[in-house]
Amino acid sequence: MNLLPSSTSVTPASDSDTSAEKSPEICEGCGSRDSWITHSARFRCIIHFYCTHCLLRKHPTSFCPSCFAFYDSSPPHHSRRVSCSDCGSYTHIHCAADDANSNSTPYRCPPCRDPDSFSFFRPIVDANGVRCVDKSLSAAFLCAAKISASSMNKAVSLAKCEAERKGKDAAVARKRAREALDDVIKLDEKAKSDVELSANRDQKPSLSPASTNSYQLKKPKADHPSVKQEH
Ligand SMILES: [Zn+2]
Ligand SMILES: [Zn+2]
Ligand SMILES: [Zn+2]
Repeated sequence: MNLLPSSTSVTPASDSDTSAEKSPEICEGCGSRDSWITHSARFRCIIHFYCTHCLLRKHPTSFCPSCFAFYDSSPPHHSRRVSCSDCGSYTHIHCAADDANSNSTPYRCPPCRDPDSFSFFRPIVDANGVRCVDKSLSAAFLCAAKISASSMNKAVSLAKCEAERKGKDAAVARKRAREALDDVIKLDEKAKSDVELSANRDQKPSLSPASTNSYQLKKPKADHPSVKQEH
């Protein structure tokens, strides 16, 4: 939820503004800069900002469009609700019965009956030009705030799950990298040892004079087994 100064002038966003970068001060639904209060909500992994009216219109099954009760993912049983034939919103059956303008069949909720001019949240401007809200507008605003809080709580939970999953993936990748590095070190050591063995083998035919002498000094012992026999 983002509070904007109540003195903000009522100026709908121009075409160029609506295509501009996302801002928490502009409703992404109607493009109005005079949202007064914008709410954040998560749709398809992206955080969006909406005015009270647009946020409620984006969540038709989350609340009763007549009394503004927030359902919090548990809408009333189908025997105690009536669905809007246009937007699919769930109105309490008793709220629909109390609605004097709901004689149409099939049932259409208040915003769908008058989509061009209806607004869930249109603050009243008093004689001094100060905008104020009555009980019904307060209920609509509170309902939108609850929907926004619920949506953002889900976003936080999903972000936590995503962070944990990425953390596990990173740990597995680190382990694999360490194992691969160990393999490389072992292969390198083996290669060095093979090279040394090969070099030693190549050196045997060209022994140094000193080693040749020692070989020759030792050789008679082997040639004269009688030395051993003397013992
Ligand atoms: Zn809007
Ligand atoms: Zn209701
Ligand atoms: Zn509707």
